[in-house]
Amino acid sequence: MTSSDFRRRIPRTDALLALPEVQSATTSLSEKVVRDLVRAVQDRARRAEITPEEVPQEVIAALTRSRASSLSPVLNATGVIVHTNLGRAPLSEAAQRALVDAAGYVDVEFDLDSGVRSRRGAQARAALLRACPAAQDALAVNNGAAALVLATTAIAGQGGELLLSRGEMIEIGAGFRLTDLMESTGAVIREVGTTNRTHLPDYVTAITGNTAAILKVHASNYVIRGFTSHVSVAELASLAHEHGLPLIVDIGSGLLTHENALPAEPAIDDALRDGADIVVASGDKLLGGPQAGVMYGKTEWIHRVARHPLARAVRADKLMLAALEATLSGPLPPVTAALRTDPAQLKARTDALARRIHAAHPTHAPQVRVVEHEGRVGGGGGAEVPLPGWALALPEPCAAPLRGLERPIVAVSTAGACLIDLRCIPEKEDDYLADAVGRVLTGVEEKA
Ligand SMILES: *Cc1c(COP(=O)(O)O)cnc(C)c1O
Repeated sequence: MTSSDFRRRIPRTDALLALPEVQSATTSLSEKVVRDLVRAVQDRARRAEITPEEVPQEVIAALTRSRASSLSPVLNATGVIVHTNLGRAPLSEAAQRALVDAAGYVDVEFDLDSGVRSRRGAQARAALLRACPAAQDALAVNNGAAALVLATTAIAGQGGELLLSRGEMIEIGAGFRLTDLMESTGAVIREVGTTNRTHLPDYVTAITGNTAAILKVHASNYVIRGFTSHVSVAELASLAHEHGLPLIVDIGSGLLTHENALPAEPAIDDALRDGADIVVASGDKLLGGPQAGVMYGKTEWIHRVARHPLARAVRADKLMLAALEATLSGPLPPVTAALRTDPAQLKARTDALARRIHAAHPTHAPQVRVVEHEGRVGGGGGAEVPLPGWALALPEPCAAPLRGLERPIVAVSTAGACLIDLRCIPEKEDDYLADAVGRVLTGVEEKA
């Protein structure tokens, strides 16, 4: 057989595009993406990696694997609630619905009664204010870092000095330093105190005619222990107000009000009651909503920040506004539920899962155990606060095949075990988990 015979047997593009399965794929993929995919399969046949007869089925298989977005929904079995690598806070069902409803044309800046333009984000702002009684005003922007940059720029941009304790000069994920971020606005960071100890007189002596604000940043991802001291929000607020300066507090985590499960974590409401003028936080950490930056504070300061030209560059989009409002007005978000999980309940659920797997796969029973496992708040706050709980322990080689499932399960790989922590997995997934773990155990056994 000559190579041209072989090439002639490869189905033509038109014929492949006319297949019903390929036609139906165009509802979720663009024509260009489908054509490129068809060509890639034809090329594989030209390189003799597959036979010409296999081309149609390979095209269909490739289309089945392709989705318009390649982000894969996963089950977070790590026990880390605000897991930055897994998209931080999962949205509540109410917030998910709101997000979908807002996807088309929506009255985000339009008053349906009068038929004229309305204030963008007014409902999200109202929901923010209801959720935080001590606030006079609120503003939602693109993310926490944007909120900090906007506040810094509006209040201390172009050479104004910000007083910041050396113990609060933090690096968040992926090498981003908040100090660099603030200095990029032209503000000057005036370092106060030492890494472990900062006192009120340190701030007093640092105040000059150039001081624009006092800044306090919550250490979301570390703790300073031992011989330490810091100055409280209330003390800093008094000092700032004595000098006619605002106090800006970045609490990062986005806890709206005090949370008993995290007694040491600062809440926005408390910071405002203690006198903070502006409090900035993330929307997708402990607040449990979409990526957003929330800014709360006194009317005059929020107005000043909202009127700054930069506010337009970091404005909240309609999807975020919808999801944020629904998070604040809807039932308990998944993050809060995971945080408050009763360890006894977690144990009962994990035991039940283990029993189901034991019953379905008696030969694997000795490899499936229930062990103590501490959950974590994650990068969003509560650094080093352990959340007592339990996990299903499987043989370590299970971790990779669990990630390879059609709905990947991301477990904890430790020396000698693969742990499945149910804290962050909705209970309705337990059937899927029992089945998936059984299949993975069988697969791992066969390989061994
Ligand atoms: C997470 C965090 C930020 C950044 O917020 P993003 O929403 O991730 O932009 C800023 N400051 C602190 C203290 C944080 O913990």
